Amino acid sequence: MPGFSRASVILNYSMKKMDKCSFCGRDKKDVSILIAGMEGHICENCIEQAHAIIEEEFKKNKNFDLAGVELKKPKEIKEFLDQYVIGQDDAKKVLAVAVYNHYKRLNQHADDEGTEIEKSNIILVGPTGTGKTLLAKTIARMLHVPFTIVDATVLTEAGYVGEDIESLLTRLLQVADYNVVAAERGIVFIDEIDKIARKGDNPSITRDVSGEGVQQGLLKLLEGSIVNVPPQGGRKHPEQKMIPVDTKNILFICGGAFEGIDRKIGLRLNTKVVGYKASMENGQVDRNNLLQYVSPQDLRSFGLIPEIVGRLPVLTYLVPLEREALRRILTEPKNSIIKQYQKLFKMDGIKISFPEETLYLIVDKAIEFKLGARGLRAICETVIMDVMFEMPSGDHTEIVITPEFAMEKIDKLSAVRLQAG
Ligand code: ADP
Repeated sequence: MPGFSRASVILNYSMKKMDKCSFCGRDKKDVSILIAGMEGHICENCIEQAHAIIEEEFKKNKNFDLAGVELKKPKEIKEFLDQYVIGQDDAKKVLAVAVYNHYKRLNQHADDEGTEIEKSNIILVGPTGTGKTLLAKTIARMLHVPFTIVDATVLTEAGYVGEDIESLLTRLLQVADYNVVAAERGIVFIDEIDKIARKGDNPSITRDVSGEGVQQGLLKLLEGSIVNVPPQGGRKHPEQKMIPVDTKNILFICGGAFEGIDRKIGLRLNTKVVGYKASMENGQVDRNNLLQYVSPQDLRSFGLIPEIVGRLPVLTYLVPLEREALRRILTEPKNSIIKQYQKLFKMDGIKISFPEETLYLIVDKAIEFKLGARGLRAICETVIMDVMFEMPSGDHTEIVITPEFAMEKIDKLSAVRLQAG
């Protein structure tokens, strides 16, 4: 408690004179603590109330206030992303520019000619477990705007079982503590956007979320309009009080695996040789990574309606993670899995280390079981579960996880179980 010492509180206890709280007027005998200031007193109840008010105001004004926030340049944004996300340079660059422009847009004043910077929503295409959500989450770490991740698969057209499109914004409102002004400048990450592709065009769809109808609903949000949001989410019902939210300034980042889109890209590149810069430059198409040529046209042939594609003008891709990338993911990110284990063990005074061979073994198992980056943690857990159970009760101060030890633990667990985890 800055400004007050415990001694002064106790001193006040022993004061003979009857004092009153200068805020609520309660007598000293009616409160447990009365703290003396220069010209008055304050009781513990009023301190608590004042504290709550400060917290509330802080949340409202400070947290999401862009005024005092230093605008990070695209290069700085990318450097920040580099600390948490391995590889995916193209996606990082595109995101960095998009986020930078989003900030500028929020601070814009219409100039003399009335030029207004328009919102550019983003779509990330890439296999599952390559870092789409991680990129979006990392951006959220950096920003001072409300941010939320929502799953497109829960959405259904009005009148069907599931959640209304508007409920996408409920989470954003909740994150913003129902501060509508802050929410209206927020960022929403819509995961699995490919799952609302039109049926028929898309063989990989497993769930009926009434494709096109949902896309039409989503379009309204992406375009920018005033939407009535149910404060508690779920389905709207007539007696519920809605909160109107203007989506004009909300940035939408969509992500999806778009399984099978590479075939569509390949087909397009075959039939139309001149189409993409990279293929024009050297006349060669890298057949191993067709995703890098993804174009709005491919999203349309996958089953997104043209209007939605048009509202997601920033399109970028993520590549599958190779062995080396997976190896780096284990130790390099600021909060990498291995760093987290080391911290956990350090709290018990134990130094835990993983030799290179062990790390590669973990990576190779993740590849063998087709688990990708997502499986790294599951495998690590398998390897050191027993150690985590036993070591804190022992007197070891150092432990090395050898490849033999790791292998033994992994062998015990079948690939099936790892996959389930
Ligand atoms: P996606 O959204 O593409 O399906 P995620 O971003 O959820 O994949 O990735 C799953 C997990 O795998 C992340 O939490 C992270 O631990 C790890 N991961 C995936 N890609 C990367 C990457 N490029 N760099 C660092 N970690 C990654």
